[in-house]
Amino acid sequence: MKVGIVGAGLAGVCLAAKLKRAGHEFTVFEKYAGPGGVWWANTYPGCEVDVPSHAYWFSFVEQSWSRLYAGQAELQAAIEGAIEHFQMSDRFRFNCRVERVEWRADVGGYTVMLANGEREEFDVVVSCVGMLDVPNLPDWEGLDSFKGPCFHTARWDHDQDLRGKRVGFVGTGSTGSQAAPAIAPDVEHLYIFQREPGWVAPKPGHDFTAEERALLERSLWRNRWERYKVQWWTNQLYKSFRIGSKANAEAHRASLEYIESAISDPEVRAAVTPDYAWGCKRTVLSSDFYPSLNRDNVTLVPKAVARVTPDGIVDTDGTERKIDVLILSTGFQAANYLSTFEVVGPSGRSLHEEWGGDPAAILGMMVPRFPNLFILYGPNTNGAGSILANIELQADVVVRRLERMRATGRSIVETEQRFLDLWKRFVDHRNNTQQGVAQKGCNNYYFAPSGRNVTQYPGSHYEYWLLTLVVPRIAFRTRSKLSRRRRRGAAVLRRPAARLGHERQMP
Ligand code: NAP
Repeated sequence: MKVGIVGAGLAGVCLAAKLKRAGHEFTVFEKYAGPGGVWWANTYPGCEVDVPSHAYWFSFVEQSWSRLYAGQAELQAAIEGAIEHFQMSDRFRFNCRVERVEWRADVGGYTVMLANGEREEFDVVVSCVGMLDVPNLPDWEGLDSFKGPCFHTARWDHDQDLRGKRVGFVGTGSTGSQAAPAIAPDVEHLYIFQREPGWVAPKPGHDFTAEERALLERSLWRNRWERYKVQWWTNQLYKSFRIGSKANAEAHRASLEYIESAISDPEVRAAVTPDYAWGCKRTVLSSDFYPSLNRDNVTLVPKAVARVTPDGIVDTDGTERKIDVLILSTGFQAANYLSTFEVVGPSGRSLHEEWGGDPAAILGMMVPRFPNLFILYGPNTNGAGSILANIELQADVVVRRLERMRATGRSIVETEQRFLDLWKRFVDHRNNTQQGVAQKGCNNYYFAPSGRNVTQYPGSHYEYWLLTLVVPRIAFRTRSKLSRRRRRGAAVLRRPAARLGHERQMP
């Protein structure tokens, strides 16, 4: 099979490695100048993983980490090292933005169309573009009039020297809580604008000692053991998202205690204490954010931004703070899946038309009426343990389906609407009865315009793992070009296909 992969982030690299091992032909298209995806794009100060690195990595690649939570540069180097390790650099095409993926009505498969006008044909296309790539940019009045430098954390402007500057920093999510404390010691004054506080848990990060590293590097098995341990531990966290559970109450209590112990000013303590359920937003893991609020040169502004002036920001109380630099840490368009390119299926409809603002896919991977198209890290697959583990499971599903197609000589893999309906009922029911209800009580990026939670998987990683073993066998069906019923009446259609030298033809 010839496979086109869109995106060279961790999902794209993972799938590429597995396809290489299975002997498939593939090309990875990446819009950035190098691999890594979000880890290539996000180079803000303080950027590091917040799942321990042994679990935030491929189980099948040996890697020695210098820290419990690797920094962006170390992870980026590891990703590049993995591509080298599998000797697949020649399969990656950088600075290649995919604009459109269109079904080939004559022979099946897809044509991948690049922004530079090139086209290439593939039997199967896999989207690995993730959901945290396109920045969510605010539309505040006056934003364009701001005279100083203004940039999003995911597009950090390293040419700007922040030393001695008054910096307005908007957003206190996982990114803001890493970047703001990292720049605080350098700037003259940092105004952190917090629209709604998040629940924060301390992050016990540390550099590995020489002994720890020696122990971890002794064998792949040691690394794997560490991974399974962390995977099990992070997976336990999903229990704490169940509102009303003992684990949730415990996590809530621990976060409140952390606020008390880490922040000296009672007003700031009150301002960072959320008034909604623990687990509503993605929990922020940081041992630096709260202590940074104790600094004399840091002011927490617990207000939304009302407007921007040429040299300041005005909060919703009407107070203006003069600033030299404006940094936006306002998150991503997470619920807008595959927003950077168009996929057109056999019916001529695009995937976005099909979804109508309500993205859904079985296991987050397959959509009816879009044969031979897989999605990795697609709708409703976030949140269950380390995302890397889910990505590996999804890559395995793709490889197993391709193996089946190779073994049976079938060239189409597709799913049906009734399976998607069942999947949506399963996910929605659980999202609406467990943490999902509480997730409607705060600002987060989980909901689509349809009002459905389209990003979060409502169960554990192990449950998802079992489903990836069972569901594709039932719902991701492989078949030859034409079903038997269609083939009987399609002799005329078959002839031009034979002339073209192809076996496949979509009815
Ligand atoms: P985020 O969690 O969506 O946080 C965005 C922040 O910007 C929130 O504080 C939000 O306030 C604020 N905001 C958004 N629009 C605003 C507006 N118009 N006016 C004022 N404030 C506004 O985004 P993120 O921090 O970039 O994190 C996104 C995800 O990336 C995380 O959940 C995590 O999955 C991932 N991440 C991972 C790591 C890691 O592994 N190390 C690091 C960073 C990020 P509200 O809360 O009021 O909406």
